Amino acid sequence: MLSYRHSFHAGNHADVLKHTVQSLIITALKEKDKPFLYLDTHAGAGRYQLSGEHAERTGEYLEGIARVWQQEDLPEELAPYISCVKALNHGPTLRYYPGSPLIARHLLREDDKLELTELHSSDFPLLRSEFQKDSRARLARADGYQQLKAKLPPPSRRGLILIDPPYEMKSDYQAVVKGIQEGYRRFSTGVFALWYPVVLRQQIKRMIHELEATGIRRILQIELAVRPDSDRFGMTGSGMIVINPPWKLEQQMQNVLPWLHRVLVPAGTGHTSVNWIVPE
Ligand code: SAM
Repeated sequence: MLSYRHSFHAGNHADVLKHTVQSLIITALKEKDKPFLYLDTHAGAGRYQLSGEHAERTGEYLEGIARVWQQEDLPEELAPYISCVKALNHGPTLRYYPGSPLIARHLLREDDKLELTELHSSDFPLLRSEFQKDSRARLARADGYQQLKAKLPPPSRRGLILIDPPYEMKSDYQAVVKGIQEGYRRFSTGVFALWYPVVLRQQIKRMIHELEATGIRRILQIELAVRPDSDRFGMTGSGMIVINPPWKLEQQMQNVLPWLHRVLVPAGTGHTSVNWIVPE
């Protein structure tokens, strides 16, 4: 039974980080003419209504995207991401938030492909209806981890794989490493982007240790925390682990993270970081 619904959290600080990184990777992949695959193992519903009951109940987006999208001094690194948010919101009111599949849909080209997997019985139909008319997309109500075996390597031999599980079950911390290992064995030149929440630092350290033990190289870690680490107060931050990052990503995130942190966390608590877990 899946109880996690992303609609409660859409547009929060973790989504801002994740979707900034996602849109910068897609923008970099578009620098070459050759088409690529965007594989989203845990796609969610696609579109989130911010005036809906779920988002209103937590109000997380108010401390996330709502603080960012209309800033006048927006850094250029945020332009592709914010263009997706603006494309869903005509006018000054923030009504909808684009999940990762809609960000990809907005940024991908005619010949690029999308493979989207979502298991939830309520979110999958919502996602399907979003993509009904998009012939670039293939959708499956299936286990996202299985897709890392079934869909890789893509015929184009280029791609971004976004792995964004809810971590409802502790086993997700191991499952992501195993999934990456399976995917990487099939497609070692792909860009793999894994999102993680900082809830218990020890869990993240263990996951990173397991990732290092796979022998995979070129692993970049990007983190944005809104509060100091704690074992009592839920999610204090989040991060992205990117394997085979585009060469500009490290510098782009170094440029944009201080700005993002300042705007997202007026109190100045927490931290940002960009570092190599395993270099070249
Ligand atoms: N990637 C989305 C975005 O950025 O907009 C958000 C995804 S949300 C964090 C995680 C999603 O994974 C939930 O919608 C949940 O129903 C789904 N899910 C959970 N276990 C799954 C599995 N084994 N395979 C595919 N989807 C799964």
